[in-house]
Amino acid sequence: MRIAVIGAGAMGGLFGARLALGGQEVSLIDASEPTIQAIKRQGLILKSHGGSNTVMLPVGRADDFQNPFDLLIIFTKGFHTSAAIESVKHLVGPNTWAMSVQNGLGNAERIAAVVPNERIIVGMTNFPADLIEPGVVSSHGEGHINIWTASGEDDANVHHIAEAFTAAGLECIANPDVQVAIWEKVAFNAALNSLCAVSGLTVGGVGKSEQGRSLASQIIKETVAVANASGIAAQQSNVATAIQHAFDNHVSHKPSMLQDVEARRRTEIDFINGAVADRGRNAGVDTPVLRTLGDLVKLIESGY
Ligand code: NAD
Repeated sequence: MRIAVIGAGAMGGLFGARLALGGQEVSLIDASEPTIQAIKRQGLILKSHGGSNTVMLPVGRADDFQNPFDLLIIFTKGFHTSAAIESVKHLVGPNTWAMSVQNGLGNAERIAAVVPNERIIVGMTNFPADLIEPGVVSSHGEGHINIWTASGEDDANVHHIAEAFTAAGLECIANPDVQVAIWEKVAFNAALNSLCAVSGLTVGGVGKSEQGRSLASQIIKETVAVANASGIAAQQSNVATAIQHAFDNHVSHKPSMLQDVEARRRTEIDFINGAVADRGRNAGVDTPVLRTLGDLVKLIESGY
């Protein structure tokens, strides 16, 4: 498969490297010159429990590439999805698929401005990845990916792509209930990311506090209520179990949103708490705690 990964950061680097090592024809597209130059110079370096792998891949800006790809994997932050997909318009042919397993809600709708909805794959992943420096990615710990078409229709391509990912060591399931998986991850992130970002505490720090646990369970409840009102059978108990696991096992972990706040970078709050609150408003479901935590993150960002 001829694959372009758009956004060669932490996750794009992990997916790009594993897919290339798994025999796929991968190109990396980014908008950051230091990232492009680093990967051109030294290759893409992936450090994981298996050691360090260096892969030499075609890398550049969108304009440096011609001819349609079979699959475009968007791995920018949500607030860059529109610019990223617009930039690769010329690489979309009649058989090109686009995929988003980014966090949050609303990425598929942005991708649909360029790629028809029936050729968009949506999903979620809990593979972890950190960017050490441009072109150097660290990923310790395994995960899985759930994907399905944005349209909800079954399509042989989704199964084919899931098999290719799994063969490359990125365990991937074609799951018709992908929206449940997406919303349960959104509920997890809406609670933990915002609470850690606002409090400055690690995951374990939030879990140790009675108020932290109580706020987390209210955010889960509100998010699941919005999902259920939208016809998606997400379950509070699944998210609560995942959060308890994180409280117990990822004690010193700083979620990406806390890392972003500490580095005074823009966060994905609009795509997580903001997007759930908007959908809640449309569905007539109030989300006071989730909204307030989202507003507090925006307040912190306004002071950068
Ligand atoms: P990142 O910041 O490490 O990488 C994003 C990359 O996108 C950067 O290299 C940036 O230069 C590039 N970019 C920005 N604008 C662009 C454009 N217009 N065209 C091309 N490239 C552009 O982010 P990340 O951690 O890899 O996260 C990507 C997505 O995956 C986010 O939605 C995140 O929430 C999600 N996610 C991350 C993890 C994780 O562990 N890091 C896990 C699951 C999901």
